[in-house]
Amino acid sequence: MDIKNFVKAGIRSLSAYEVKEIPCKVKLDANESPYGFKGLLKALKFIKTNRYPDPEARFLKKFISRDFGVKPENILHGNGSDELIYYLITTFGGPVLFPIPTFSMYGIISQALGEKRIAIPLEKEFDLDLEKILKAIKNQKPKLIFLSSPNNPTGNCFSSDRILKIIEVSNGIVIVDEAYQPFASDKGFMPMLKDYKNIVIMRTLSKIGLAGLRVGFLIADEEIINEVNKVRLPFNLNSLSQAAAVEVLKNKKVLKSCIKSITSERGRLFGEMAKIKGIKPYPSEANFILFRIKEPDKIYKGLLKKGILVRNMSGVVNNCLRVTVGTPEENMGFIKVLKEVI
Ligand SMILES: *Cc1c(COP(=O)(O)O)cnc(C)c1O
Repeated sequence: MDIKNFVKAGIRSLSAYEVKEIPCKVKLDANESPYGFKGLLKALKFIKTNRYPDPEARFLKKFISRDFGVKPENILHGNGSDELIYYLITTFGGPVLFPIPTFSMYGIISQALGEKRIAIPLEKEFDLDLEKILKAIKNQKPKLIFLSSPNNPTGNCFSSDRILKIIEVSNGIVIVDEAYQPFASDKGFMPMLKDYKNIVIMRTLSKIGLAGLRVGFLIADEEIINEVNKVRLPFNLNSLSQAAAVEVLKNKKVLKSCIKSITSERGRLFGEMAKIKGIKPYPSEANFILFRIKEPDKIYKGLLKKGILVRNMSGVVNNCLRVTVGTPEENMGFIKVLKEVI
């Protein structure tokens, strides 16, 4: 029997999401925080490894609810926000609309679930092409619209009046993916939840130091949460992650100071990059900077040869690389090597 022919057609044409382990000294490719959290063992002491985790993640939700000023009924927890994207598309189906370039999982998961994708290119300055999106809403009636703001990999926030217009016009659900909101200067779309029933805010702890724990969550109207909750696997968030996330959220001071250090480093890094001839960094509201450069493949390899790993985006955004903001030492090292390689 030929397994390939046995697989569903939509899956056959997919390829597995490849995360290559590339050895390097300085890892600036995956938008992770350079600051991890130690001393979480204390929190793990009370975990019963023989028991299933709390399926409702009640304790964790209490802290999220306190931090964001929403009720626990408005929160849904996921094994990273990736899982929640899966759940949203499973629950509501397509067509699924998103701009490009953006976070690749919206498209990949839609395809895996056999749902129609509507990908609309961003404008020149990486803002949403409102006219085309409104037209697609009218003609194709997408059930879900994913907007990552700040957007990965471009780094900018979309103009809030364009997002609002989309929310107002759409008869589907608009998911504002705020994975990078902690690094942005505006308040994001959480305050809009009270005015519109069709918004879902998606957050994650991955970019602020907990990528290894896989904790993401949705905040939305209770009715939406209840529907998505039907497809959630009962024990999707393990006990270790629940307990460790609570411990980190308890100590907001540490979390805040890490974020502050990253945003101030981002400013410095941008300034240094802007001074280098032959590259164009794009302003960022996230914890990474996209930059245009001639011969991106060559520069990417040159950086790696000297131990510095960035993300080669040249297949996605013409002639671009993306660098994650690291510690001051890592960023200085990156700038020094970048100058040498150029
Ligand atoms: C990294 C990223 C995510 C994924 O977050 P996880 O919680 O680690 O699954 C979601 N959205 C965007 C835009 C991202 O860049």
